[in-house]
Amino acid sequence: MTVRTRADLVALPGYVPGRTIPGAIKLASNEVSAGPLPSVVRAIADAATAVNRYPDTAATQLVARLGEKLGVPAEQLAVGCGSVTLCQQLVQATCTDADEVVFAWRSFEAYPIITAVVGARQARVPLTGGHALDLDAMAAAITPNTRLVFVCNPNNPTGTALTRAEIERFIERVPSDVLVVIDEAYKEFVDDPDVPDGVELAKAQWAAGRDNVAVLRTFSKAYGLAGLRVGYAVASPAVAETLRKVYVPFSVNALAQVAALASLDAEAELMERCRAIVAERARVREELLAAGFEVPVSQANFVWLPLGERTAAFNEHCLSHKVVVRAFVGDGARVTIGEPEENDAFLAAAKSFSG
Ligand SMILES: *Cc1c(COP(=O)(O)O)cnc(C)c1O
Repeated sequence: MTVRTRADLVALPGYVPGRTIPGAIKLASNEVSAGPLPSVVRAIADAATAVNRYPDTAATQLVARLGEKLGVPAEQLAVGCGSVTLCQQLVQATCTDADEVVFAWRSFEAYPIITAVVGARQARVPLTGGHALDLDAMAAAITPNTRLVFVCNPNNPTGTALTRAEIERFIERVPSDVLVVIDEAYKEFVDDPDVPDGVELAKAQWAAGRDNVAVLRTFSKAYGLAGLRVGYAVASPAVAETLRKVYVPFSVNALAQVAALASLDAEAELMERCRAIVAERARVREELLAAGFEVPVSQANFVWLPLGERTAAFNEHCLSHKVVVRAFVGDGARVTIGEPEENDAFLAAAKSFSG
């Protein structure tokens, strides 16, 4: 007899990670190109001698440190094995199979997969003509079955960002028993002052009696720890507690915890790197615009080229120039901002594309 796995998972597409091709420049996964700081590598190496022991499942030191940094009590924090796992925990914490998750599309590729894995329903809301989240349409998509809305800000893969006023107006329209999750994986690359710090925005909402706002952050992007898997959620005490209940014990490993702490120690240096990436983002966008591409303003560490049917050809063209971008065939290509030489290699490829 064949093992009976869930029939509803048969049609589920697998997550497609950015490709890694030996010898090619990888601009496909929104990683920071520069390696970890020597101080962070040292902290990881020191902790490696104790990996015979289980990690602190509550990540006590990291949680305390984040609480100080953000000005929130530990009870409002939950760590996770990357913020993608926290996305899953949030859906698990709010939805059963009758319930629904609302998100924009196109947005973070993991949202539909996670929703399907949990067994909940999904409502995908098309982006605006300007490649941004359409918050009016998202508010209108909320039904009595909706339990959670993902608001990716800035949006992966389009890079567009919402303003404080837009998000606040949206939250006002969301029923108080529906959780609004602001996914801020790229927050450290934002330079538009109208784009809010989600944690500050959430604090104001909590103070006004609205507990239904949570924020996700990660050490994978700006802090350069994608390979170690650690992120965190900032939420109301009740939501954070439920997140901790659905946490797979010990899933934020010991090396990730010390590396995150060491990265917070080196935050000034890491944020300087982010500012250099932001400067490169402006240069790359200008050169692409000058070459005739459409490129929405990005607040993240990548740019979006809405190439539509030309996406597959653009992808092949870049690969032939040994540059790996992230193609969403039929839709567009997302290109991570790397080191200046990497960006130059990409720009040379893009400028010679005639598809
Ligand atoms: C990269 C990314 C994440 C998750 O990163 P982790 O490595 O799992 O912390 C979450 N949300 C968005 C929108 C992302 O792009």
